[in-house]
Amino acid sequence: MHYFSFTTPENRNKTDHSVLRHLTSKIKSTGPISVAEYMREVLTNPVSGYYVNHDMLGPDGDFITSPEISQIFGELLGIWCVSEWMAAGRPKQFQLVEFGPGRGSLMSDILRVFSQLSAPLGGAEMSCHLVEVSPRLSKLQAQCLTGDQSQVSTNEDDPVYRRGTTTTGLPIYWYRRISDVPQGFSIFLAHEFFDALPIHIFQKTEKGWREVMVDVHPETEDKLRFVLLPSATLASSTLLQTDEKRRHVEVCPEGGVLIQQLACRIVEDGGAALIMDYGHDGVKTDTFRGFKAHKIHDVLAEPGTADLTADVDFSYLRRVAGDRVTCIGPISQRAFLKNMGIDTRLQVLLRHCQDPSNQAQLIQGYDILTNPEKMGERFQFFTLLNHRRLTTPETGEGLQKRKGPAPLPVAGFSELCLR
Ligand code: SAH
Repeated sequence: MHYFSFTTPENRNKTDHSVLRHLTSKIKSTGPISVAEYMREVLTNPVSGYYVNHDMLGPDGDFITSPEISQIFGELLGIWCVSEWMAAGRPKQFQLVEFGPGRGSLMSDILRVFSQLSAPLGGAEMSCHLVEVSPRLSKLQAQCLTGDQSQVSTNEDDPVYRRGTTTTGLPIYWYRRISDVPQGFSIFLAHEFFDALPIHIFQKTEKGWREVMVDVHPETEDKLRFVLLPSATLASSTLLQTDEKRRHVEVCPEGGVLIQQLACRIVEDGGAALIMDYGHDGVKTDTFRGFKAHKIHDVLAEPGTADLTADVDFSYLRRVAGDRVTCIGPISQRAFLKNMGIDTRLQVLLRHCQDPSNQAQLIQGYDILTNPEKMGERFQFFTLLNHRRLTTPETGEGLQKRKGPAPLPVAGFSELCLR
């Protein structure tokens, strides 16, 4: 993920020392910690975590994720959500759920599309639900989406910690975890979210699989290093496939649990999940990396001042989803956006835009999103759908029974076609 810290150097050092001190004292008292625990502490510790502590806005802000690069990205995803809602038979209740919304740009572009499509969406009871661990980012999201008209809950046990009304008039709620989001027909979106979830790292040795852990450096107390545990851990004996061919493997069990929760909800309430991330289909090794100020950063250096990320293993997500839901993908961002009509949308925007510098910006954004050398190929799209979505319904009774119309193809994974 390309997503960077915006603290001043002073603040950076403060965070740095407290995170490092916390980690070294923990390791000294209980022994080396797993990479997953390290990642969780560094990114989402409620006091010192990178996401919890960093302001993502301001003059120093320079991160690049697709929704920030071009409005077209969010607009096409808005069309995707509407197309899946229509294909599901236009259920009355329509919850849009986003995980880790960052600055809220993706949701904001989607909501603009929804308000332009108020005629086809008419009658649906729509609501927005954001799952966000960082109270600080939730504030930025609320500023962007509600025009700062949101209320924070005074009760710490309230599953909804912030609520409001979007500038387009929809109720919007913030939660810490998916289990707090109400049940009901939902379209779930996760953009650059799964890559931030903690991974375990394993290495094949002559004695079998062993887990890579984080330890304090024996010579330099304020430095961390990786070590290989001499014996198996619960994780190394339960999280790997018996026929695994790779010798280094990263597994993200939290991502697996989230996929199981999404699959259950999609089976019970209908709906779909769209997961968009850097990733691979079970072939890559050693993708754990840090990013700071647009550069690769040593994952163990100055913890808390840089983003940590690992490519998403879509083959693992597909395996844990099982056969309860239909999984499609991963396919490249380039293919997905082309199927959604990005070329036509670009032409329309260029026709309506007179300013040459805005035109150049639109073209540059299009290039970054779709160029195979940039985000076009490395970025992948993967969806979970209710099985009913792709089966041809039967209509009529008894002998009168006949096949209904064939289901619509899934937009993005094949060409968009709205009836
Ligand atoms: N989707 C945005 C931001 C991606 S950064 C974009 O593409 O621009 C990751 C986001 O997920 C941040 O908003 C971060 O605070 C949030 N996040 C990270 N780990 C989380 C967790 N375990 N639970 C909820 N939110 C989390």
